[in-house]
Amino acid sequence: MSERPHVVEFKNVRQIFNIGTPREYLAVTDLNFQVADLEGKGELISMLGPSGCGKSTILNLIAGYRGYVPPTEGQVLVFGKSVTGPGPDRGMVFQKYSSFPHLTVLDNVKFGLNACNRGKPEERTDMAMAWIKKVGLGGHENKYPRQLSGGQQQRVALARSMVLRPRIILMDEPFSALDEPTRIEMQRLLVELWHDVEATVFMVTHSIAEAVYLADRVWIFATQPGRLAVEITDALPPSRGDDPLSSQERSDFKEAVQLVTHEFQRVNP
Ligand code: ADP
Ligand code: MG
Repeated sequence: MSERPHVVEFKNVRQIFNIGTPREYLAVTDLNFQVADLEGKGELISMLGPSGCGKSTILNLIAGYRGYVPPTEGQVLVFGKSVTGPGPDRGMVFQKYSSFPHLTVLDNVKFGLNACNRGKPEERTDMAMAWIKKVGLGGHENKYPRQLSGGQQQRVALARSMVLRPRIILMDEPFSALDEPTRIEMQRLLVELWHDVEATVFMVTHSIAEAVYLADRVWIFATQPGRLAVEITDALPPSRGDDPLSSQERSDFKEAVQLVTHEFQRVNP
């Protein structure tokens, strides 16, 4: 067995908000899971569940945002250490507004490099431009987010995050606001980029097809209180490297979607 600490580990995590007030609320409980650090390979974990079951709370705990860490009970470990705050080893992509509206695409992507003092200052433009091109935004670097489509704005969000080479990428419904063709393009792009970064990705989505297409593991959450109800690994067809449209037409893929749908309905009747 390897001595490498887990990328992420939750031990008996329970999160209660507004503790000791009339609005006290048990958001998630009994969270126990590990994600191993596999040599040269990051896992993608898709997180499905009804609204309010604590998916964002789990991402926020891993991200180390104020108001979330430390959890009310239990331990959240990243590379074997208790999370006490955010860090450049973890990147977050939200559904919307992951970028600064007053900065150009280039300055948005450079922002983290400057903030984390990554690379030599004179190299940062080149580092940022390389990612801007990888996400297909070459030529748009001097535009502001509002001048871009929703899909292009999510490309900026991916570049902003990946330029820092995080070991963990947290994605909270990143493609939910996009139309279906754009969403498929973003799935294709994500798979492509990921070969490069080898990060572990936690991705919240409402699309069961997206979850099955991208994931090594699918987690299905139940609600009140939020908890991890089912993990599916074996039944997932190897589809991630393939073209999203054609792989999603295959019969093994459709069977997996049916199985996940069935499990979702079983734990959330
Ligand atoms: P999901 O992302 O699955 O929809 P969330 O993690 O956003 O669920 O929320 C789970 C529950 O915890 C919800 O009832 C929500 O209102 C509550 N909650 C989340 N964050 C906070 C917070 N910072 N303060 C108070 N309540 C919160
Ligand atoms: Mg959420």
